[in-house]
Amino acid sequence: METKKVIIIGSGPAGYTAALYSSRANLEPLVIEGHEPGGQLTTTTDVENFPGFPEGVMGPELMANMKKQAQRFGTEFLTTHVTDVDMSKRPFKVTCENGNEFLAETIIISTGASAKYLGLPNEKELIGKGVSACATCDGFFYRDKVVHVVGGGDTAMEEASFLTKFASKVYVVHRRDTLRASKPMQERCFNNPKIEFVWDSEVKEIVFDDTGVTGIQVYNSKTDETTLRKTDGLFMGIGHSPNTGFLKGQIQTDESGYIVPTNAPHPDTNVAGVFACGDVQDSYYRQAISAAGSGCMAAIRAERFLEEHE
Ligand code: NDP
Repeated sequence: METKKVIIIGSGPAGYTAALYSSRANLEPLVIEGHEPGGQLTTTTDVENFPGFPEGVMGPELMANMKKQAQRFGTEFLTTHVTDVDMSKRPFKVTCENGNEFLAETIIISTGASAKYLGLPNEKELIGKGVSACATCDGFFYRDKVVHVVGGGDTAMEEASFLTKFASKVYVVHRRDTLRASKPMQERCFNNPKIEFVWDSEVKEIVFDDTGVTGIQVYNSKTDETTLRKTDGLFMGIGHSPNTGFLKGQIQTDESGYIVPTNAPHPDTNVAGVFACGDVQDSYYRQAISAAGSGCMAAIRAERFLEEHE
């Protein structure tokens, strides 16, 4: 079985930056990219807050460039999913869904976080038939249709704005009467005539027929009434949960599953030689730039660890 000095699991800004730094340090890293190479930014449009791009940059383009930059210094990439990691002893054994197995002297975990769903009956079965958590991926299918977006954060605002390019009307259903989203994103939605807010409201049920979603039952906590709202699509914008299930409890996490750094400010975990960066260990900042910064830290930490354990 091939032994790698550094295996990076996950491929958002954190993973690609870790790859850039460790490949430039001649550590010949392997990035196991997962099913969504490039991570969450590949499903977004304009990124206006990544420094160095005065006019903004498209998320997929930014990620493609980060990958290319890491590739230039010899990073290897594998597009598969890690199903198991044995962290009981070093080198760690990494098993992939496609049957590949590797040994790793150090591991950098940068698996990010995935979109949350409401947990309603039939919700998952209706993905692709009116339920979505990615406006960028699916917005195109809602030309001249009515859609509802759930959530009050930046994700929901971004989804709603994007959907107005296609849909005739976009309703944002939020469980409170104030938004969590940043002020500029709020303003963008308030000023968009196609967007309307449905305050103090929770989606309780998805109504559908053979063609897919036709409506939602929405409960208003102020009026204590449930009403049927017709819709062609329901988009989730309620945040994300960290992708740590494959670690099967070997790495210390908080109650939501986010990896807990054990030697802050260093990106160390409770297993020596395993480091974590990006959204998988950050439920607070969750920005592309903070993820990239932590990827750099994890790579430098892995490099020093290897030097000390040579
Ligand atoms: P947030 O946690 O910020 O917001 C989640 C929203 O969904 C909240 O309004 C929350 O309601 C609501 N919500 C959560 N669970 C439920 C539920 N079960 N039912 C109904 N509503 C629910 O997540 P985001 O993904 O929006 O943002 C995460 C981070 O990423 C933030 O830091 C954000 O700034 C950043 N981001 C930046 C973007 C950009 O700059 N382009 C784009 C997207 C995200 P409540 O408010 O009541 O808790």
